[in-house]
Amino acid sequence: MRTTKESIKEIIEDAVRNSDLNNFSRINLPEEPMWNKPIIGYAAGDDSLFAFYKKDIGDFYWSPSEAFSLKYPESIAKDEDLTVISFGFAQTDETKKVQSRAEGLPSLKWVVTRGEWEPFAYDLYDKILCEFDKMGIKAVAIDLIPEWSRMTSEKYGIASNWSHRHTAFIAGLGTFGLSDGLITRQGKAMRFCSIIIEDKLPADQRPYTTYQEWCKFYSEGTCGTCIRRCPVSAISKEGHDKDACSAYLQLLKKEIGPDILRNSNYIAGCGLCQTRIPCQDKVPVKIVERGTNGNKF
Ligand code: SF4
Ligand code: SF4
Repeated sequence: MRTTKESIKEIIEDAVRNSDLNNFSRINLPEEPMWNKPIIGYAAGDDSLFAFYKKDIGDFYWSPSEAFSLKYPESIAKDEDLTVISFGFAQTDETKKVQSRAEGLPSLKWVVTRGEWEPFAYDLYDKILCEFDKMGIKAVAIDLIPEWSRMTSEKYGIASNWSHRHTAFIAGLGTFGLSDGLITRQGKAMRFCSIIIEDKLPADQRPYTTYQEWCKFYSEGTCGTCIRRCPVSAISKEGHDKDACSAYLQLLKKEIGPDILRNSNYIAGCGLCQTRIPCQDKVPVKIVERGTNGNKF
């Protein structure tokens, strides 16, 4: 082990602290952070769930070593030589407050945090990878792999060759909700990053055993509040209709979203289903600490 979880936490938190891009003042709004301090989890590169995703989602889905080799084609690192770091950022209370009041259309703050996400994330990746480089540890940020792209899964429709949320699930950070968002201890209004390093750190325990354990709908048969939050009925008791959701995002981008979205390179975000719901800020059910880690899921 050439580094520790403690030093990685410091590196990530320093990168966030030293980034000028985590602030609404970037677009001439009053000075205020866009994202909270991150939560961090660790998955073993050879966790069997990565192989399961490949089988279940589609053969295009990358194993950690496949993703790693796209940046380091000469590398002979195997999945078991790698650790996947997953980290996620919750929206601030202030953004969640205004988004909670929004009805039918997302709030300006939500649209801006989505649109400004990539520059912020890329700045973090630059800073973090630079620190790994100084330690002599090879590291790959998924978002910086040019081949990372949207794919179509026969079983699930819209997909990609790496999912940050599925990785966060493996790393013990949360489980999926009815609307497909990941419910964490800080709630569901979050965005995630993944970095793969050539070093072996202990994997974090998953404090759950099923994919949707922390959603009230799946665990208690109640709630469904996110169904009512969606302006285009893209959420139902059957789950999340990704095509309907994506069509609404296109509509926001091209026609009905705020000027800043329509007249920029911002990616559209809606996220109405992530606020004014029981899982907005927390896990809405009792957490039963009976999970597993490593390959024993
Ligand atoms: S709002 Fe309710 S049903 Fe929807 S994801 Fe959250 S807990 Fe599950
Ligand atoms: S992001 Fe918006 S359109 Fe998509 S499911 Fe959530 S509320 Fe519906």
